[in-house]
Amino acid sequence: MEPLTLLSAGFKTLKEVVTAIKAIKELLPENKKNEVSMGIDGVEANLKIAEAQIAQALGYQLCQCEFPPVIMLNVENSGRNKIFQCPKCNKKYPNIYEGEVPQPQPEGEYV
Ligand SMILES: [Zn+2]
Repeated sequence: MEPLTLLSAGFKTLKEVVTAIKAIKELLPENKKNEVSMGIDGVEANLKIAEAQIAQALGYQLCQCEFPPVIMLNVENSGRNKIFQCPKCNKKYPNIYEGEVPQPQPEGEYV
């Protein structure tokens, strides 16, 4: 199985836990609901960030069209380059069709 598939399965389980906590939240008195909601929102954001960080460590590209970043999927291979595409905004990386080639990070300027 693809590492990202395993990763997604693991995070799906964690998201189900969050869904269960949300259901429990509904049983709380009104004055406690907001407090718990804010906590759950934070957990959800952190889950997305953790998922993106692990995907990046596995060699996936991240699209910055929103935050937390979206994991770009390997849609095709062009020669030795893997082409990734964002499932949200459809942006491709590297965008070889528009002549955009990933450049090495610029070195510090020498004075
Ligand atoms: Zn995107």
